Amino acid sequence: MADCHEIIDERFRGLIQKNAFLIKIADDCMWTEGAVYFRDSNTLLWSDIPNNRILRWIDGVGVSVFRADSGYSNGNTRDRQGRLVTCEHGNRRVTRTELDGTITVLADNYQGKRLNSPNDVVVKSDGTVWFTDPTYGIMSDFQGHKGDSELDDKCYVFRCDPATGDLTIASDDFVKPNGLAFSPDESILYISDSGVSHDPENGPHHIKAFDVASDNTLTNGRVFAEINPGLPDGFRPDVEGNIWTSAADGVHCYAPDGTLLGKILTPERVSNLTFGGPKRNRLFMAATSSVYAIYTDVTGVEFP
Ligand code: MG
Repeated sequence: MADCHEIIDERFRGLIQKNAFLIKIADDCMWTEGAVYFRDSNTLLWSDIPNNRILRWIDGVGVSVFRADSGYSNGNTRDRQGRLVTCEHGNRRVTRTELDGTITVLADNYQGKRLNSPNDVVVKSDGTVWFTDPTYGIMSDFQGHKGDSELDDKCYVFRCDPATGDLTIASDDFVKPNGLAFSPDESILYISDSGVSHDPENGPHHIKAFDVASDNTLTNGRVFAEINPGLPDGFRPDVEGNIWTSAADGVHCYAPDGTLLGKILTPERVSNLTFGGPKRNRLFMAATSSVYAIYTDVTGVEFP
């Protein structure tokens, strides 16, 4: 077993590849986030937020700039058509990059009021786009543009329907909603709250779970896991429904019943992650100034 693995529950042994080690695939960033994988080109994209750019790593080729002046992008994902969907702190919007490279704005206001700074995003199989809207990107000029909330400092989870343009509040039960992901069968939506970042005494640092009804309403909100040390930023599910979440000491893996199974320990603090590689069995971790990768014995869902 590589020394980057910490076994807490024996089930974790079946998920990790004991002979795999952490490999750093990129460095020289300021704050990495929003990793997303394109299997068709064996390419990883991620945001380097303070440097206002999206970087690209191609296996066997290396790192290059995918998009300069990215609007201080943060979370990225793909829709079912394979198109890149991006949260932009600086432009306070969520966009879709079309296959010809043009950018379509999916959401930039709620009832005429500008969004705060969309942070992370996931697309459901019905095409709806779900994203979190905390204030991190308008609190300073470091990860966006310092500015005022037009939503009375409320930080919502939104659901956008690109077919109609409708934008709906999916949940208002968060201090700082951050990462989000569906269970493999989409019956559960997990959403993290990283409110402890600005309230060390009382702020939440947990992932909540909600049941997803057929009309896309969320019910039965409950705390799925409290993350220590640090806080949950981004996270992803594997095909067995385990949740792999960022934490201060690396990546923590939780079983669907909320049991902490084990950790992948990293030299830098992880903000977000995604499964990739041709077999979806390689975990890519955006971690502060770097991006790390490690092979696992479980695969990630195709559209996390
Ligand atoms: Mg985030």
